[in-house]
Amino acid sequence: MSRSVLVTGGNRGIGRAIAEAFLKNGDNVAVTSRSGEAPDGAFAVACEMTDPASVEAAFAAVEEHQGAVEVLVANAGITRDTLVLRMSEEDWGEVIDTNLTGSFRVAKRAAKGMLRLKRGRIIFISSVVGLLGSPGQVNYAASKAGLVGMARSLARELGSRSITANVVAPGFIETDMTAVLPEEQQAAYKEQIPLGRMGSAEEVADAVLWLAAENAGYVTGAVIPVDGGLGMGH
Ligand code: NDP
Repeated sequence: MSRSVLVTGGNRGIGRAIAEAFLKNGDNVAVTSRSGEAPDGAFAVACEMTDPASVEAAFAAVEEHQGAVEVLVANAGITRDTLVLRMSEEDWGEVIDTNLTGSFRVAKRAAKGMLRLKRGRIIFISSVVGLLGSPGQVNYAASKAGLVGMARSLARELGSRSITANVVAPGFIETDMTAVLPEEQQAAYKEQIPLGRMGSAEEVADAVLWLAAENAGYVTGAVIPVDGGLGMGH
């Protein structure tokens, strides 16, 4: 049966691969982004994650189009990397507001419909960096670690209604976000990855699809790494 799926930041990168995988699976997929673009076959909604009114309007549009959201993938995220002494309040605030508070906004709004349905899947896209830390990413790592505490609290609050909340923690994935990193930094990362290569957005999407599937119904509060072994041991 096709489900009502919402992927934030689904117009490009990892979010797009996730949206395309759900589309291939035959689900009804809504995609939000700032630009309002979406892959073919998805319902495109413009949504600014840092604006609660925009999130509310996006959910209203999605619900009208395909019913209450049964699978939420909170994927939209940004980086504003710099060393801590140079990190401004704005660098900190923008990343926390988009990655952490934005995910809270959509999870809270999706939970409303899921509680009524007495089922649902909430999947947060975190990062290996949230658990390992990373120089120059104090803001980003804090936002991604925060998603773990949020998912686990939601898992406890919503579990009795058959709603699961999980985290996927990608490692170093080929997208626009990593393309901007200097060559040397990319090479240094690759050296630390046991599998010796970057991952693809499709490999992250596979883990998300499984968490959303019927047969993952007993998995909640989990952090699933898709990182070529980079974060092993956390
Ligand atoms: P991209 O930079 O390719 O895409 C980011 C997405 O987030 C875009 O769809 C963008 O929409 C959306 N977005 C950003 N800010 C906002 C906002 N304020 N309001 C609404 N939408 C917004 O990122 P990736 O695909 O690389 O990353 C996707 C997720 O995966 C992120 O959360 C990232 O932190 C995480 N991740 C990525 C890794 C990697 O190696 N690439 C590794 C680990 C985690 P628009 O196009 O409209 O700007």
